[in-house]
Amino acid sequence: MSATEDIASPVSEEEAVEFKPKLRRRSLTRRKKLCPNCLSELHIATSVSGWLVPNYYFCSKCGYSGYVALEEMPKEKK
Ligand SMILES: [Zn+2]
Repeated sequence: MSATEDIASPVSEEEAVEFKPKLRRRSLTRRKKLCPNCLSELHIATSVSGWLVPNYYFCSKCGYSGYVALEEMPKEKK
């Protein structure tokens, strides 16, 4: 009655240790872009007329559109 010894383990303990999940830190912090006119959240226009633009924003509230956007400052102080 030694059937358990016949089972071949596919992964040894050393390999199992190396297979630990990698922690990924997100360096990119997505801050909200605010409209310089009405301070509402801007939407990023990823493509305008077929070509990609890096940082072109438009506001759905006041109709502002342009490259200038205000970044929402992180509130650290209480
Ligand atoms: Zn606006």
